[in-house]
Amino acid sequence: MPETVPPQDPGARSEASIRASIVAAMRDLIGLGLSQGTSGNVSARFGDGFLVTPSGIPAERLRPQDIVAMSWDGAFSHALAPSSEWRFHRDILSARPEFGAVVHAHPTHCTAFAICGRAIPAIHYMIAAAGGPTIRCAPYAPYGSQELSDAALAALEGRAGCLLANHGMIAAGTDLTKALWLAVEMEALCHQYAVALQVGAPVILSDDEIWRTVERFKSYGLRETTSNSE
Ligand code: 13P
Ligand code: ZN
Repeated sequence: MPETVPPQDPGARSEASIRASIVAAMRDLIGLGLSQGTSGNVSARFGDGFLVTPSGIPAERLRPQDIVAMSWDGAFSHALAPSSEWRFHRDILSARPEFGAVVHAHPTHCTAFAICGRAIPAIHYMIAAAGGPTIRCAPYAPYGSQELSDAALAALEGRAGCLLANHGMIAAGTDLTKALWLAVEMEALCHQYAVALQVGAPVILSDDEIWRTVERFKSYGLRETTSNSE
């Protein structure tokens, strides 16, 4: 009898390629000026759990084999400890099945608003990329705590990004490319808002306009598949 070959999900990526993408994303955070030193961490859904960066290793020293595999109960078996923020990576990926990857960083302009405990209003239509008319700021809680994870999850309700008071920001996406892209857009928005506040009184777009933009983005160039007939 011929051996039965289990069907392969053509979309499923190998563990090796996800590990390499996580290392690349950590290096990109530094290269893009969104992170420095050992700040920030990155995760991606994999198998029966997720893969997350180790704690306290600078991006330039990070190797694919250093990425820690964790199960949903927080168990891991690795010589390196997982990121101190594994709880919010775990909680976001487990509560939000639409996300495949999470990026956390301390970029200057996002963090400046987070230091002031200020949410970002609809100062630009690009805020729709984060899912709605505001980017909320989660109240302060110590880094690595379950309290921080709970606050982040609440701030992310209906959104793909949020600020963390006196700390930084989180961006999530279907994959690492999208999560990193949103992190860049959030930092650009915060930079624009900071400059606009110095220039004068920013005009805030209506919630309706942003919800319409959220709908329009669903058929914008970033969609997964494109058809020539459209
Ligand atoms: P880790 O090195 O433990 O991932 O911590 C960095 C960080 O940004 C904590 O919030
Ligand atoms: Zn942090």
